[in-house]
Amino acid sequence: MVANGEGQLNMATRVQSKPRANRYPGPCRLCGVEVPAGGGVLRLEHGDHGRWLVEHRPAVWAGSPVSGRWVDGCPDERGE
Ligand SMILES: [Zn+2]
Repeated sequence: MVANGEGQLNMATRVQSKPRANRYPGPCRLCGVEVPAGGGVLRLEHGDHGRWLVEHRPAVWAGSPVSGRWVDGCPDERGE
């Protein structure tokens, strides 16, 4: 039942253009939950003034396929 072999569970995957961490706490752009300083990433909003908005880091699966857990991500995404 567990689909693996696609490499999506590989934590060592390199990420290009690593997003910047937020220096100040603020509400998440996606879910509105407060993101602690350094606990999220900054996204440049393409708008009038190009404001930097904070959002939770994308959820990633940590651990083995059968005993791992989701870390980071918006609380809503984790379905808890
Ligand atoms: Zn969020």
